[in-house]
Amino acid sequence: MEMLAASRSIAQAPTQAHAGAAAALRVSETEVDAASEQTFLQHIALSNVTNAVPFTLIAICSVYLPGWRIMAGLLVLNVAAMAAMYLVSRRIAAAQDGPHYRAGWRVYEGLAFLTGVLWSGLMLPIMPTLGHDIASAFVCVVIIVAVAITSMVLAPQWRSFVCFLSGVMLCLVPQTVAFIGVLGLIPLAATLGLVPALGGLALALRRQHRLMIRTQLENRRLADDLTHALAAAEYLASRDSLTGLYNRRAFEELARKAAAEAHAEPLCLILVDLDHFKAINDCHGHGIGDSVLQQAGQLIAGVAGPRDLVGRGDGAVARWGGEEFILLLRGCTPDGGALLAERLRVGLSALGHAEWPEGLRVTGSFGVAAWHGRMPLHLGISRADAAMYEAKNAGRDRVCIHSEAMVEA
Ligand code: GH3
Ligand code: MG
Ligand code: MG
Repeated sequence: MEMLAASRSIAQAPTQAHAGAAAALRVSETEVDAASEQTFLQHIALSNVTNAVPFTLIAICSVYLPGWRIMAGLLVLNVAAMAAMYLVSRRIAAAQDGPHYRAGWRVYEGLAFLTGVLWSGLMLPIMPTLGHDIASAFVCVVIIVAVAITSMVLAPQWRSFVCFLSGVMLCLVPQTVAFIGVLGLIPLAATLGLVPALGGLALALRRQHRLMIRTQLENRRLADDLTHALAAAEYLASRDSLTGLYNRRAFEELARKAAAEAHAEPLCLILVDLDHFKAINDCHGHGIGDSVLQQAGQLIAGVAGPRDLVGRGDGAVARWGGEEFILLLRGCTPDGGALLAERLRVGLSALGHAEWPEGLRVTGSFGVAAWHGRMPLHLGISRADAAMYEAKNAGRDRVCIHSEAMVEA
């Protein structure tokens, strides 16, 4: 079945095989954006887990802080905001570029801003004791590290990173200004320095991330192109360029495969030789001759479909040589093959084309022979050839079945 399906799809297959090979390798910025968003969404859950460490450390330390109730409240809010960010990221991933996709990202950015505010809000209870309490100093370090980690996690999604850092600064700068009398200028300067420091790092990370995504996309495209090119090469190597039918080499391969699979099933070979084809070339030119070969090939491949086979069977059709075609039928006796050959013969004699000169008539002589896997293929073909010559000698435009009395070449 598979073989015949392949032989019948001769007209459509080349275009498919070539289409992929023509695909451009260049990856656009929009494609990198889309792939980068997808990668970010895939890994965001794992990144959120990293925040569990600073949350736990702050929770432990807050026991020793005077403002632990505020601290605990802010921690809970922060965990809730993180959870909301995670849920929104799932919704965005599910939206798959639908109408809710962009809206989802805007919500995500809003939550990133809120998380930034809440992280720096955690500084509020420790500000008054920052200079002289070890627990406050430790919490401060943990918060700064957590802000840095979250910034790096968000860096590939630049807008989310900017929103987060804006949230951090919006809440942290007023605090350092308000406590300037207690803490001096250094915390304010350090806070302001976070912007270029984290911004620069995030920018470098984002560039690297995009480069990686671009390389991945280009590699994938290259692999696709290669697959298509291989398919096209394989196709071309097995086809006759004029008719699109299998060529001799491919037919021999298919025939051997069919014989190995056929076991006790009868196999049948039909050899077709167009009659007085040289005269067609001579009278009407090679262009018309080529067109006759193409039309005859199409007719043979079309009629030899499983629906039209006599009895049960499938097979392969090939251009055997100049104006010769060969068919292999599975599950078909010589009598069944002769009936199919007769249909082909009638079809050939009725063949016409708008471009052909008036009065051009095509006929063919058919030789039919039984074959089985234990017989060398060339012997089976010699028998079909002998039957075909018998048809020629008997006046052409007819079908002959091989008999033992016939002389083989
Ligand atoms: P017969 O009835 O005995 O088979 O006679 P014939 O003229 O068909 O056979 P012959 O072997 O004398 O001529 C076959 C011709 O087919 C000769 C060759 O130029 C032509 N031919 C072979 N391949 C092609 C092709 O690809 N295109 C065209 N236009 N002609 C071809
Ligand atoms: Mg010939
Ligand atoms: Mg001929």
